[in-house]
Amino acid sequence: MKLVFASNNKNKIQEIQALVPNTIQIVSLEEIGCFEDIPETAVTIEGNAILKANYVTEKYGYDCFADDTGLEVKALNGAPGVYSARYAGEQKDANDNMDKLLFKLKDKTNRKANFKTVIALNLKGKQNLFSGIIHGKIIEEKIGTNGFGYDPIFVADGYNKTFAELSMEEKSTISHRGIAVKQLIEYFIKNNV
Ligand code: IMP
Repeated sequence: MKLVFASNNKNKIQEIQALVPNTIQIVSLEEIGCFEDIPETAVTIEGNAILKANYVTEKYGYDCFADDTGLEVKALNGAPGVYSARYAGEQKDANDNMDKLLFKLKDKTNRKANFKTVIALNLKGKQNLFSGIIHGKIIEEKIGTNGFGYDPIFVADGYNKTFAELSMEEKSTISHRGIAVKQLIEYFIKNNV
């Protein structure tokens, strides 16, 4: 069966296609002719994942799943959270976002933070949510060149390297997105999708 992933991120699509049962063919937004920016106007990570999945199902009539991720920092009451991509402005620049976060945490001793991913799945008239969380801390400077986003300043609990110093494989076995995707795949297998 064909299942739309509400994304045009080729890396994410390939990664998920390699993991799902081979009865499922993952289809991108482009492939269904959806070229518009899907509104991400919800105030929670869950809300945005649901918005994106519902947009595709309601407007295009396809079964679909969508993901949304944010970095939640304890000392900032969960910010940047749902605004992680555009924390320092609409240019969505990872370096600017990290600089802003490091500045906000300058005098803070509590550096605890977590990444959270939520996946919303619309399948056969039912909606299910899957989530993945990884706890860790924000360090005081950027270290490492792998990955993207806030990876150079995030160290997971039990590790002494930033996410940007881990290989893609190492990161995806412990990451928020990896955990959420694993749950999605277990759901497919359990329900013979
Ligand atoms: P998205 O919902 O996957 O597009 O993620 C929203 C934003 O959260 C991204 O633009 C990044 O700033 C941040 N982010 C998401 N996942 C990661 C990650 O694995 N590492 C670092 N930053 C991330």
